[in-house]
Amino acid sequence: MVSVSEADQILSGTSYKLSTLALPVENVVNRVLAETVVADRDFPPFDRVAMDGIAINARAFAQKKAFKIESVQAAGVPRLSLQHSENCIEVMTGATVPEGTDAVIRYEDVDIAEGHASIRLDHVSTGMNIHYQGSDVRKDEVVLSPGQVLSPAEIALLASVGKTEVHVYEFPRTAIISSGNELVEIGTVPEPHQIRRSNAYALQAAMLQLGWQARLYHLPDDRFTIHERLQHVLLGHDVVILSGGVSKGKFDFIPEALNDLGIQKLFHQVSQKPGKPFWFGKSASNKIVFALPGNPVSTFLCFYRYIKPWIHNQMQNPVRVSKAKLASSFEFSPPLTYYLQVRVENENGTLVAYPIPGGGSGDFANLAGVSGFLELPSSLSHFSAGEVFDYYFFR
Ligand code: AMP
Ligand code: MG
Repeated sequence: MVSVSEADQILSGTSYKLSTLALPVENVVNRVLAETVVADRDFPPFDRVAMDGIAINARAFAQKKAFKIESVQAAGVPRLSLQHSENCIEVMTGATVPEGTDAVIRYEDVDIAEGHASIRLDHVSTGMNIHYQGSDVRKDEVVLSPGQVLSPAEIALLASVGKTEVHVYEFPRTAIISSGNELVEIGTVPEPHQIRRSNAYALQAAMLQLGWQARLYHLPDDRFTIHERLQHVLLGHDVVILSGGVSKGKFDFIPEALNDLGIQKLFHQVSQKPGKPFWFGKSASNKIVFALPGNPVSTFLCFYRYIKPWIHNQMQNPVRVSKAKLASSFEFSPPLTYYLQVRVENENGTLVAYPIPGGGSGDFANLAGVSGFLELPSSLSHFSAGEVFDYYFFR
């Protein structure tokens, strides 16, 4: 058995080299960037007019307040030049600042009549309403690094540096395998002693939240069949996530089968509740296997507590664990890390966690009213209202 922090260390020491793929920029929102992106030119690329108005030579303002309008500098037109320093040029937002001018006065501060612009301000300073070339980003500066999740803000950057295609991380070929003779397909009517295999769908959905697709398989509680089918699934996938069959039951054959198939156990059992029977290993050919206990709340917790952070690490995008404040005191004395089911509310900027403990690791109906798990350390048994703990959420 390992502690939660030992399990974390083993998981973070177990890496899987993800492939990358090039996708059109239109299709990469929420993907994780796998390349370094640099500015192909300065941002902005020229001294940019920031407001519609007139451009003048600021020194001329010392002598006069009314300027003859010489020309109009529109956006998207090559740079004009001020012919006489005592004149002005009308300028539009997004145009280049005309040569010979160094201040832009907004239309709101100007009266225009008979070809002249009179400025209503007492002071005009050099650079006003000018967005100088390179003031945001310099050419060749790194604008985005691998591991960055591509939100619409990053898509704007990619587009502006001319990236029509971008390299993002590809998820590994992944299988989800449920196991157990009591489990039936969800579209069928179970016999009284059977249940529908809901874990497989919960895992699939949890992965899809991250954009990670997986194929579903099922194993019966039969030693020979498990060996044979697992071998086949391992051939076609790089990551395998099992649920069930890893505890101490007479028909829990999964760890033995994994061992026989050359998957080296890196840990089995974590001193936590729920999810204690969690098994993790990898093969010499770098197949990664997470074998989770089948109790639905355990499966659920293990995914969000371990597998999600693991895949994020492979994409150089570590999960930043949130913190939440316990709303009411809670007792848990066994020397295990306890994952308390909570509903978290944002109250005036503080995440407050209301315990909804439920009926144990088999009570997955409870999860519908829960937003995540509060990690209560094994070293304590009394957890007081107002104390702050790590919070792993799924909604
Ligand atoms: P196991 O880990 O195989 O001992 O299973 C523990 C409990 O979880 C048993 O009550 C199983 O019936 C249940 N269980 C296992 N796999 C699933 C699944 N895919 N969906 C729903 N319940 C499951
Ligand atoms: Mg079972």
